[in-house]
Amino acid sequence: MDDSNRTADAADPLAALKAQLTAQAGDNPALAVLLQFMQPRPAPAPCVDVEPAPAASAREEQLQADLDVLVRGHAQQAAELERLRRRNDALAAALGACHLCFGEDAWCPRCGGLGRPASRRPEPAAFAQYVRPVLERLQPREPARATPPASTEGPRAGAA
Ligand SMILES: [Zn+2]
Repeated sequence: MDDSNRTADAADPLAALKAQLTAQAGDNPALAVLLQFMQPRPAPAPCVDVEPAPAASAREEQLQADLDVLVRGHAQQAAELERLRRRNDALAAALGACHLCFGEDAWCPRCGGLGRPASRRPEPAAFAQYVRPVLERLQPREPARATPPASTEGPRAGAA
């Protein structure tokens, strides 16, 4: 008898728990309330295969579509954030600035507000990419020459 009960308990532990609680519920109103919560709920949609099913399905499809839009939007924003972070870090390296705050945050954990541009040596490749073109652009232009300089490069000069 005990063995068969154990087999039944193992097959449905919830039923075994309910039986045990039911036995004790007479003395304990809290257990009675707990047992009420454990009762199986009535089926939510008695006419599942009739009319409401397509509406629920359409709603679920709309929710899934909305979710897909949100997930795609999040992925695009995450990718954009990653691109902007890489560019920020490269620009900070080019300027010799703190990549977290550019020296604008006295509480910056990296520089304590001392990381303004040129506070450290610029990273050469980033400097060449971002700063050197600006410096060249700002150089005063040489006055226009009356004649182009004589070429010493031979046949290629004529092609240009
Ligand atoms: Zn900083």
